[in-house]
Amino acid sequence: MVIERTYVNDIKKNKEVFLQGWVHDIRELPKARFILLRDITGIVQCVLKQDSKGFNEKLTLESVISVKGKVKDAKLTSEELSVNDMEVLVDSLELLHKAENLPMQVFEKDKNIMTDLSVRLDNRSLDLRKKRIQAIFKIQSEIAGSFRDFFRKNNFIEIQTPSIIASASEGGTSLFSVDYFEKKAYLAQSPQLYKQLATISLEKVFTIAPVWRAEKHNTTRHLNESRQMDIEVAFADDFSAMKYLEECVSFIVSNVIKNCSKELNVLNLKLRVPKSKYLSYDEAVKLCKLKNGDDFSPEDERKLCNMFPDTIIFTHSWPISLKPFYILPKDKKLSKGFDALYNGIEISSGGQRVHIPEILVKNLKDKGLNPKNFEFYVNSFKFGSPIHSGWSIGLERFTMSLLKLDNIREAVLYPRDRDRIAP
Ligand code: ATP
Ligand code: MG
Repeated sequence: MVIERTYVNDIKKNKEVFLQGWVHDIRELPKARFILLRDITGIVQCVLKQDSKGFNEKLTLESVISVKGKVKDAKLTSEELSVNDMEVLVDSLELLHKAENLPMQVFEKDKNIMTDLSVRLDNRSLDLRKKRIQAIFKIQSEIAGSFRDFFRKNNFIEIQTPSIIASASEGGTSLFSVDYFEKKAYLAQSPQLYKQLATISLEKVFTIAPVWRAEKHNTTRHLNESRQMDIEVAFADDFSAMKYLEECVSFIVSNVIKNCSKELNVLNLKLRVPKSKYLSYDEAVKLCKLKNGDDFSPEDERKLCNMFPDTIIFTHSWPISLKPFYILPKDKKLSKGFDALYNGIEISSGGQRVHIPEILVKNLKDKGLNPKNFEFYVNSFKFGSPIHSGWSIGLERFTMSLLKLDNIREAVLYPRDRDRIAP
């Protein structure tokens, strides 16, 4: 009889099963072997007796095996197991691929000897076999999927913007240059300009785009390559954009709570859908005891978030001087730019954009940028441009903030930072 593969998560008492996975742990007794088999859904104990086929197979940790057998009642206590009330009595075991010379442990039995982050990143594929690490990326998948679902549901169009660009989109952060035939080109530091150009025709757009920033600081919250979840809406002001952010983050967090309860358990997290708090820049500056014109340090961001736990804090009406050239001025000093903070850290920046070419040219000059390099962009606003607003949430930054990770490198498969471009 051919039985189809069963995932650990789906095994049922007294059923015949065919499991495939990795050897998570082995305990040998003279007359029995206890093997913990792990697949992407969980870990189950498999018991081999002397009459089980494959009893003498030379097994190593992380070898790939398949097992046929019958599911029995059990009373197990190991925290490592995802199934404690069942085990598999093995009829036959097959060694499919033998693992050798593991550079690091997958099952971290002793929490006092955890592998260093740099060794883990050097062996990331092996690192991805750990429950904790799998939980992070399953949740990140839920985050990105929910972002997409939310905006598709709201009739936004998903767009793809170029990654190779001819000039800086923001000024501010430095760009990585690339040789582009006989010219010099750059890697996009954000989809900003292109998503705006799409919006003044398509009205409501979103994208998940990789971005590159040659920021030299090597912090726990910055990567040199990251992914941004961006939206842009026509006929909308800064406050409507913040409303979208509020609703989108609520949708994402409720989906994570609903669909990732096992993963949240593994990470020891209890999440709540955040509330929102709107503060003008002036109010936020006062709360942090800063001077007008100061930017918020990471410490200030933490302080503000501690004042309003489980809350997305929107700081709006920022001084023009602290926001990029494409943010619309509100009066002589203030702009329609905003930031969003969550769990102690900035997760997003956004605002209402400049849709008037003359103001754009002035802003570019004021920021020391050359309007000549932005002609294609500025000119597009001459052909009938609605007001428009939007924002960008860093995918890894948001994952870090939601899961309270202490380093953003935990939230990206293969980080690119000052010291690391391989693997
Ligand atoms: P920060 O002030 O935290 O350095 P920023 O204001 O320079 O960020 P934005 O240009 O506002 O960044 O980018 C939008 C969002 O993208 C940020 O709110 C953050 O979530 C994320 N982000 C920005 N820079 C990085 C980076 N270097 N690594 C990872 N995520 C980033
Ligand atoms: Mg920002």
